[in-house]
Amino acid sequence: MAEPTETTETNRTTDATRTTEVDVLIVGAGPTGLFAAYYAGFRGLSSAIVDSLPETGGQITAMYPEKMIYDVAGFPGVRGRDLVKGLVEQANQWDPQYLLGRKAHGLDDDGEQLTMTLDGESGEEAVRAKAVLITAGIGEFTPRPLPAGDGWLGNGMVHFVPALDEHAGKDVVVVGGGDSAFDWVLALHPVARSVTLVHRSAKFRAVESIIQEAREAGIRIITDAEVAELRGGADGALAEVSLEIKDRDTKEVRPEVLPAQTVVAALGFTADLGPIESWGLEVHKRSITVDSTMATARSRIYAAGDVAAYPGKVKLIATGFGEAATAVNNIAVELDPSAHLFPGHSSG
Ligand SMILES: Cc1cc2nc3c(=O)[nH]c(=O)nc-3n(C[C@H](O)[C@H](O)[C@H](O)COP(=O)(O)OP(=O)(O)OC[C@H]3O[C@@H](n4cnc5c(N)ncnc54)[C@H](O)[C@@H]3O)c2cc1C
Repeated sequence: MAEPTETTETNRTTDATRTTEVDVLIVGAGPTGLFAAYYAGFRGLSSAIVDSLPETGGQITAMYPEKMIYDVAGFPGVRGRDLVKGLVEQANQWDPQYLLGRKAHGLDDDGEQLTMTLDGESGEEAVRAKAVLITAGIGEFTPRPLPAGDGWLGNGMVHFVPALDEHAGKDVVVVGGGDSAFDWVLALHPVARSVTLVHRSAKFRAVESIIQEAREAGIRIITDAEVAELRGGADGALAEVSLEIKDRDTKEVRPEVLPAQTVVAALGFTADLGPIESWGLEVHKRSITVDSTMATARSRIYAAGDVAAYPGKVKLIATGFGEAATAVNNIAVELDPSAHLFPGHSSG
């Protein structure tokens, strides 16, 4: 995936106050937010994109990076991961600032500027912006935890696999039984030394074709198994996974230990609009009501993509792209009424 940049010349970050100042703050680095960042740059507006996930790509990265997508205009078929990479590259032409691993929670308006407070691992920070575009999709994702993995996150245990190469030559255990779990095992199989899928039941939530593909690839699948413990080696790094496997007939439990330098906890996500619901917007059924310019009920706050609702809305990547362009062009005019709504052709 293309590397997002942390700082730019057009976006000012003051370390002392940890306040970033931009023209447009985009909340959500899914496909809609990434395309909006491109469009903001095209309109001469600086932008920052905040996302609670550590990676760009929203639902695509979190749930189906290895799947082919067939209904994005201009691509007869594109792998999720490649679409996100292209969107990041396209956005990066204008140097947006990425504030990943931060959750947007508070929103204040002093009449001139909007101030968003963010919560991240390194504490609270703020972004001051002239306009806010909410592209928060179905909300903030929280990966479902693997109880036995407590304390191992970031130290061998992951919820995402953004760069397959990092797991080259390693023993990988993927825990889960849904589409993502099978996506990961299939993607990692050619690069890792060994890949094992561990699921607590014999019933999977993934589509049959992908389960079949994993079986045909010879991937070891252990069912009716609970992860009992993750253990480190002498150097403290993750070394093995201890399982408790239940025999369905006798109900007998037998232990098994697998070597593992990586554990992918692919147990799904919960999604929640959370603080966005308290920003004084019109929210119905976890979506923000917008007009045809993608404006919300509050001045200088717009919404686009899955999170935005209007009669006849269709939640698709393609729809989000169009809405991002509409929103940013209207933001450009709201910030500078002398600006044209139509941006001109990018080909020009
Ligand atoms: C399995 C699956 C397959 C799909 N296949 C297709 C397909 O083939 N074609 C298609 O068109 N669509 C498909 N979709 C739907 C498509 O992925 C969505 O329409 C698209 O991702 C919406 O993009 P978005 O940018 O609006 O939101 P999202 O992709 O949901 O991104 C929103 C981002 O906002 C972040 N966020 C939310 N709240 C906060 C907050 N408070 N602070 C910080 N960050 C926040 C989230 O972490 C997330 O990264 C599929 C979806 C799934 C689950």
